[in-house]
Amino acid sequence: MQIILSDVLGFCFGVSRAITMAEEALADGGAVSTLGSLVHNPQETARLAAAGIRQVEMPEEVDGDTVVIRAHGARPETFDVLRARHLRIIDATCPFVQKSQRIAQRFMAQGKTLIIVGHENHPEVQSILGYFPGPAHVVASPDEVAALPDGITPGVIAQTTMPEEIFQAIIAAIAARYPRYEACDTVCSATRERQEAARRLATQVDAIYIVGGRRSSNTNRLAEICHQVCSRTYLIETADEINPADLAGVEKLGVAAGASTPAWLIHTVIDRLETLANQGS
Ligand code: SF4
Repeated sequence: MQIILSDVLGFCFGVSRAITMAEEALADGGAVSTLGSLVHNPQETARLAAAGIRQVEMPEEVDGDTVVIRAHGARPETFDVLRARHLRIIDATCPFVQKSQRIAQRFMAQGKTLIIVGHENHPEVQSILGYFPGPAHVVASPDEVAALPDGITPGVIAQTTMPEEIFQAIIAAIAARYPRYEACDTVCSATRERQEAARRLATQVDAIYIVGGRRSSNTNRLAEICHQVCSRTYLIETADEINPADLAGVEKLGVAAGASTPAWLIHTVIDRLETLANQGS
């Protein structure tokens, strides 16, 4: 059995950077907390917790001397609370999210109405809204454009993980309704690159494993995309979930992983699969 890895898999730049920054802060000494989870992967979250990186949900709950802001960023008032508490702040906001925050500030200065293509409760969207203290709207589908107010000049950006086609469909609906608007495409290529690479691989193999958290939306989406072209698509969180029966008759096996899956977890899966492949040869 030949094992083929997806061309692009595992942590994106922003998540990898945030975890490295948290680990470096821990190595400096003292207690380290993160505001919200650094990554949507239960095994990586458990590893970080075991290393001593504590997760809290509110700035008031930080009980050490260092707090890490995750890749999604945080609202300015959250930074104010942390500064007032004289905490050491490690700002791991992804530079691509910081770019969206700066665009929101520019739209504010220009008197535009901020429209974010995304999901209202997503932490990245909430962090960006904090940089726009004016009228703002979050839309997730072209149908929702009809409910926006009349007479505005929209300034449109996207939650970085939104599918490009949804962003473009919403821009088309906005262009049809408003004579003047500005759109900045802030969709991050990390998600798209992983999806395209996994789909490509799924067309070339007999079966494919998608490694990642069951509650991770990017992992589930990857499995859906691969299942469209390869019926033997299996989503697993760890190597323990590999079922040798799933590999019966498989000559080419693919392995892909979303942007929230750590490299060490992918390697444990590959090691187990190589052992099974050697046993079968
Ligand atoms: S998906 Fe893109 S924008 Fe989001 S954290 Fe990763 S690199 Fe940054």
